[in-house]
Amino acid sequence: IRVADADSVAVIGLGRFGSSLALELMDNGTEVLGIDGDEDIVQSLNGQLTHVVKADSTKEESLRQLSLPDFERVVVAIGSDVQASILTTSLLLRFNIQHVWAKAVSDAHGTILEQLGVQHVIYPEKDMGKRVAHLVRGAMQDYIEIGDDFALVKTTPNSVVIGRPLGETQIRSKYGVTITAYKRPGQAWNYTTAETIIQAGDTILVAGATRRAEVFSQLA
Ligand code: ADP
Repeated sequence: IRVADADSVAVIGLGRFGSSLALELMDNGTEVLGIDGDEDIVQSLNGQLTHVVKADSTKEESLRQLSLPDFERVVVAIGSDVQASILTTSLLLRFNIQHVWAKAVSDAHGTILEQLGVQHVIYPEKDMGKRVAHLVRGAMQDYIEIGDDFALVKTTPNSVVIGRPLGETQIRSKYGVTITAYKRPGQAWNYTTAETIIQAGDTILVAGATRRAEVFSQLA
């Protein structure tokens, strides 16, 4: 396998998480080398990724044959087999790959990956659980925590902001949030300015410290 360009990404472990990630990368125009030890999985993704190969990623020789040391970005999406995840990850770190992302299935797993030196440890189920909790609890239509205590919330406007220019609402000083964008039914998303007047029926995008964005989004 020849690495097409520096933009290529290798995804190791093509279970539910890895395959979804690999297909999304392909959709966005990124070349993907997918690796899994399971023949059926490799078969089912054949033709959908740039390359799909059956290999045991805990074997240094296999990874070298696949030119893994030449990749700048590799995702280890092996979760349930913690031993395979750790062995694979430590090989990649030894290859000095610039960006290694590794999925953790538990806090202990994540701690080990961090101790190994992985810069990007991801906790898909934990993060998704938290995110859905915010959706379930409030009137939010969508919620994303950017990290470092900052969140973006898609929601319906409350009485504080409806009907007068955003510049006059003082929500930044009073509530610690800002409305970054709004959408009128049937129209595209638009950036807000100090002159924007939000109407009932609009959808807004609130940005701010996680708790404050959440509190603001729950005001009537
Ligand atoms: P998910 O929850 O996203 O489905 P899993 O951890 O269950 O994730 O799946 C991980 C995938 O990684 C499986 O398809 C499995 O075949 C693959 N895998 C596990 N160990 C290895 C290994 N040593 N080499 C290559 N692929 C592996």
